Amino acid sequence: PSPAGPSSTARSEALFARARAVTPGGVNSPVRAFRSVGGVPRFIASAHGAYLTDVDGARYIDYIGSWGPMILGHDHPAVREAVAHALSGGTSFGAPSAREVELAELVTRLTGTDKVRFTSSGTEATMSALRLARGFTGRKFIVKFRGNYHGHADGLLVEAGSGLMTNADGPLGAAAPSSAGVPPEYAALTLVTEYNDPAALDALMQERGAEIAAVIFEPVVGNAGVLVPTPDFVDALHRVKDAGALLIADEVMTGFRLSLSGATGLLGLEPDLSCWGKIIGGGLPVGAYGGRAEIMEFVSPQGPVYQAGTLSGNPLAMAAGLATLRTLEADPDIYARLDAYTARLAAGLQDAAHAAGVPISVNRIGSMLTAFHQGAPHGSVGSYAQAAGSDTAGFAAWFQGMLARGVYWAPSQFESIFVSAAHTDAELSTTLDAAHTAYTAAAGA
Ligand code: PMP
Repeated sequence: PSPAGPSSTARSEALFARARAVTPGGVNSPVRAFRSVGGVPRFIASAHGAYLTDVDGARYIDYIGSWGPMILGHDHPAVREAVAHALSGGTSFGAPSAREVELAELVTRLTGTDKVRFTSSGTEATMSALRLARGFTGRKFIVKFRGNYHGHADGLLVEAGSGLMTNADGPLGAAAPSSAGVPPEYAALTLVTEYNDPAALDALMQERGAEIAAVIFEPVVGNAGVLVPTPDFVDALHRVKDAGALLIADEVMTGFRLSLSGATGLLGLEPDLSCWGKIIGGGLPVGAYGGRAEIMEFVSPQGPVYQAGTLSGNPLAMAAGLATLRTLEADPDIYARLDAYTARLAAGLQDAAHAAGVPISVNRIGSMLTAFHQGAPHGSVGSYAQAAGSDTAGFAAWFQGMLARGVYWAPSQFESIFVSAAHTDAELSTTLDAAHTAYTAAAGA
C-alpha cells in the first residue's frame, strides 16, 4: 500500500498539548519536537517494515529508523520472536545470564575487539569509555571534534552536534559548553578541534599530547549531517596514539550500520576503544564499550574504574540485539542492498533538486545520507562549518513537503537519514516522486 499524507493532525496536536503540560517541550528527546522544521510532531501509533503510522492514521515511509537501530525495518519477525521468547522467561534478573555472554561473543568476534561491557544507552557507553581512558592513562584531558555528538554526558556537551545544532534556543556556533548546567571548569577538560583537519589535530597533539587521555570521534559523522573522513584525517587520528592517548571510536551510529565491522572496519581504523549502541540493541535500550583486554581489564570488578547498571545486559535487550546481529550476519548481501538503495536515493534526490533549481549537496556512505541545502559539489561538505552554512529554512520547507506526501525524513538539516532492509523499489519511487514535488514547491516558495 502506498503511503498517504495526513488529512488531519488533530490527535497528534491533542497529544502534543497534553505532553507539553507534563514533559519539557512535550518530548523525551529534543529533536522529536520539530523545533527546527516547525509544525506538529507526529505521535506514532505503530511501526512495521519501512512504515510508521501516526495516531491520526497517516502512514509514512520512515527514514529515521529510530535514529539508526532499525536496520532490519520495524517489527522484524526474528526480533519480535526473540523478544517474545525472552519475555516469557522474565524481564530482568540483576544477575548474569547466557544472552549477555552470547551477545558479547558475537560483538567481539565481528568487531575484532577483546572485551566488551554492556550499558543501557550510547551516552553511558561514551561516558564510561572516557572514564576508563582517564583511569588507564592517568591523564585528565580529552579531545573531541566540533559538531560531533557523543551523547549528553557533561564533558561531551562541548561544541556538540545533533539536536544542539538545531534547537531554536541552542548555541549554534557558540563557544563551549553547549548546554547550561555544564560548569566551565568541567568543560575546560574537553579540548575541541576541527573534524577533517589533520594539521589542527597534529598541532593540538604536539602541544598538549602528554596531558591527553583520549581522542573521541565519530568515524563517519552523522550528527552534523553526514561527514565522511578524508584519508589524511584518518592517518592523523592514528598518530594520536604516538602521544600515548587512547583513540576512541564512537560507533554508536555507524557500528553494524556501515558494515559488520562498523565504520572503523570499512576505513581501516584501529581504535583502542570503541563505543556502540542503537543496532546492537535492535530497538531496545543497549549501549556497549569495548577494546583491548589490557585496557578493558581496568573496569570494575576486575579493575579500579567503576561502572555499573541495574538494567545492563537486560534479557529483552540482549535478545533483540542478538536477533538483529545474527540476521545481519546471516544475509551476505544485506549491506550491498542497503548501499544500492541509498545510492539510487542519492542520485534521485540530486536529479529532482536539479530539475527544480534547488541547490543541494548530497553526502552519502552506505545507508547514511544527508542532502545539505547548499550549492557545494556533491560529497564535498567535510566540516562542521560547511554543514552549518546550509539553508535551514529551505530544508524545513522541503521537509514539510515530504511529510505531507507521506515521507518521514529526519526533522533536521544536521542529521543523517537511515535506510533499512525493508525499503524496496516501491518505497524508493514513492520517495523520489515526493521529493520532486517537494523541491519544486520549495523552489516556488
Ligand atoms: N554517539 C553517537 C555517535 C550518537 O549518534 C548518539 C545518539 N544519536 C550517541 C552517542 C548517544 O546515544 P544515546 O542516545 O543512546 O545515549
